[in-house]
Amino acid sequence: MPRRRTPPVETAGLVVAELPVMPIRDFVLFPRVVTGASVGREPSLQALEAALARDRTVVAVAQRDPTQETITTAADLYPVGTEAVIGQTVRLPDGSTNIVLQGLRRVRLLELTQTTPYLVARVAPLDEPVRQGLEIEAQMRTVLSLFEKCLKFLENAPEDAYVTALNADDPGWLADFVAWTMEWPLARRQEILEILDPRARLRQVSVYLARELDLLELKHQIQTQVQQEVDRSQREYFLREQLKAIQRELGESDPFTREIHDLREQVARAQLPEPVARKAHEEIDRLSLMPPAAPDVAIIRTYLDWLLHLPWHTATPDNLDITQAAAILDANHYGLPKVKERILEYLAVRHLAGARMRSPILCFVGPPGVGKTSLGRSIAQAMGRRFVRVSLGGIRDEAEIRGHRRTYVGALPGRIIQAMRTAQTINPVFMLDEIDKIGMDFRGDPSAALLEVLDPEQNHAFSDHYLDVPYDLSQVLFITTANMLDPVPPALRDRLEVIVLSGYAEDEKLAIARRFLIPRQLAEHGLESSPLVFTTGALRQIIRDYTYEAGVRNLEREIATICRKVARQVAAGQRPPRSITARSLARYLGRPRHFWGRAEEEDAVGVATAVYWNPAGGDVAPVEVTLMPGSGQLILTGQLGEVMKESATAALSYLRSRAQALGLPERFHEKIDIHIHVPAGGVPKDGPSAGITMATALISALTRRPVRRDVAMTGEITLRGRVLPVGGLKEKILAAHRAGITTFIMPRRNAADLEDIPATVRRALRFVLVTSMDEVLPVALRPAAEGPVALLEVESEAECSARTAGGG
Ligand code: ADP
Repeated sequence: MPRRRTPPVETAGLVVAELPVMPIRDFVLFPRVVTGASVGREPSLQALEAALARDRTVVAVAQRDPTQETITTAADLYPVGTEAVIGQTVRLPDGSTNIVLQGLRRVRLLELTQTTPYLVARVAPLDEPVRQGLEIEAQMRTVLSLFEKCLKFLENAPEDAYVTALNADDPGWLADFVAWTMEWPLARRQEILEILDPRARLRQVSVYLARELDLLELKHQIQTQVQQEVDRSQREYFLREQLKAIQRELGESDPFTREIHDLREQVARAQLPEPVARKAHEEIDRLSLMPPAAPDVAIIRTYLDWLLHLPWHTATPDNLDITQAAAILDANHYGLPKVKERILEYLAVRHLAGARMRSPILCFVGPPGVGKTSLGRSIAQAMGRRFVRVSLGGIRDEAEIRGHRRTYVGALPGRIIQAMRTAQTINPVFMLDEIDKIGMDFRGDPSAALLEVLDPEQNHAFSDHYLDVPYDLSQVLFITTANMLDPVPPALRDRLEVIVLSGYAEDEKLAIARRFLIPRQLAEHGLESSPLVFTTGALRQIIRDYTYEAGVRNLEREIATICRKVARQVAAGQRPPRSITARSLARYLGRPRHFWGRAEEEDAVGVATAVYWNPAGGDVAPVEVTLMPGSGQLILTGQLGEVMKESATAALSYLRSRAQALGLPERFHEKIDIHIHVPAGGVPKDGPSAGITMATALISALTRRPVRRDVAMTGEITLRGRVLPVGGLKEKILAAHRAGITTFIMPRRNAADLEDIPATVRRALRFVLVTSMDEVLPVALRPAAEGPVALLEVESEAECSARTAGGG
């Protein structure tokens, strides 16, 4: 079928007309479309008036820039618009007019012939070619089917849009209608308006529709997914709410809600200090917003548990009756008169001065097992306070004292707060053990945190990282302990009132065992009623051969071992022994394990007895000197520390300066090597206090005068032979006594230390107080058996070694 081609419309000819123009901001009017519009701008209202006065036709044409208020040139408008007829008009009170417009046909704007008071344009109608046939049919179907699909996704498309499209007889109109209905941008609609050939127009519309469909489908897909998520959680929410409602009806509630309710009540009941209560409520609020299975729930629960179970107000009333305190100290501890007195004075001052006093912190210094901890317990008992204890030994991390922040996995409060929870009162006696053993490394300085704990100016608001609220430690009575004072950081030492507990003498240990340790161990092993007796001989042997200590901790352990074995015999139905004697000991305790130093067997040349201090108390050890032909070397062995080596050199220098007076040849040292050895070579030794002992052994070796075996000595030596005071006198004297020494040479300036020595020991020993080496020699050395110089006139090496070997 031949197609009838209509030539494109041209402007030539009579059809050109002049019409009022109505610029449109937000839509593109298509021919055949009927729509309402609101006319507000003055020029448009005038154009409307003019049109109504004539034949009601205007040109509706879109503005290029929708925000432009006044149109002045043709370039402000698109070149193609729609001739339209105005239907109903309704004036509104605000001055604007609502009108109904019906599109008639496409027109091209040729020129604006008037711009004021309203626009008038010369326009030429645009004729559209007529298209028919299979191809156009197919195009129409394509557009229809795409349009149908799109409509499903468009919520505010008119309901009958598809029906209208289905019934469209004209392909151009179908394209226009779809472009009108779809919510496309204005530029795109204008583009469709400007395509005159229906085939081209349909093609363009179907391209846009296909693109739109893709977008809509994608959008829909995403929306569905989101919706499903929302639906599920909403569903759960509703179900849970319903569950709650049902439980409420039934008088039940879910465990989590109940827990939160309980927590609130607990916080209210606990009467926490204001900031703590606030913190607790904040945390409960956070908790209530979480699903019960959230990982943070457990963390908050633990935290609240800490807040609720720490003591915030509870305090025990103080008993400050000094007589009663004295009685308790006596009942729990043997001896220690000075220590007890100091403690009672301290309590008395606290009592009188009350909380106002910035009392120093007690620090018990002494070797293990001398009763530091048990004294702390007794103080607590005497004051009627709780007792808690934290060992600081080996702490290197500040967090051990202050806790970890809650952001750490498994964070907990520091040891101070943990102990306060154990105490359950705000005023316990708090013992900080081993403050001399805290370390320091990159994780911070624990002693700084400790200072804060102990400082009364700061400790009313101690900050623990975990707790996150200040905690008041000001009511706590802190007591510290240390084995030695030297390693305690000076800043800390300043705050401490040091009370020294030195080791016990054998008799004291015996008494402690009889009065305290044995009754306690018998009771603990259920043997109170049995007539088990420890003989003095047995106890002495346990002390001497089975323990090596200044205190009584191992003694108690050995007694416990015996009790345990006896208890076992009783349980097995055997007849238990009536007494534990020295001879039966090996059966219970095995072979002796420790050997204290003993006095030498006989007087000897070149061997003097030194006493030294160690953590087990004190002990004696020989200092040996041998001479060998040589070139004046001094050899020192036996793991001697720097100070001890210097002390040996000083002793030798003293000797050389006194050579003449001692009857030694001048420059005697040049022909010999001197070897000084202190046995028990595995144990490091240091300190200046063996000075006079080394000098004595040297002089003995050189003069061949034997040293008396029953003499022991301690004292630092100067180059001029003066004897300076030393520390640890009590332990040293006890060690000498234990070793079977009868004469003890010591610096005169240590005389005051003799007061601390138990009377039995004092009576058993002869003390020689000296200020110079000259006073030592007559006491320590016997007269020479052979001439002193003989050795030094070195005749032959063989002879020399033979003699010295005999002497050492
Ligand atoms: P430390 O804290 O100094 O290491 P402890 O206080 O643990 O020592 O004492 C160890 C044991 O010795 C405890 O059972 C304690 O009762 C007992 N003890 C120590 N000194 C005495 C004493 N003077 N009187 C009675 N018992 C004592």
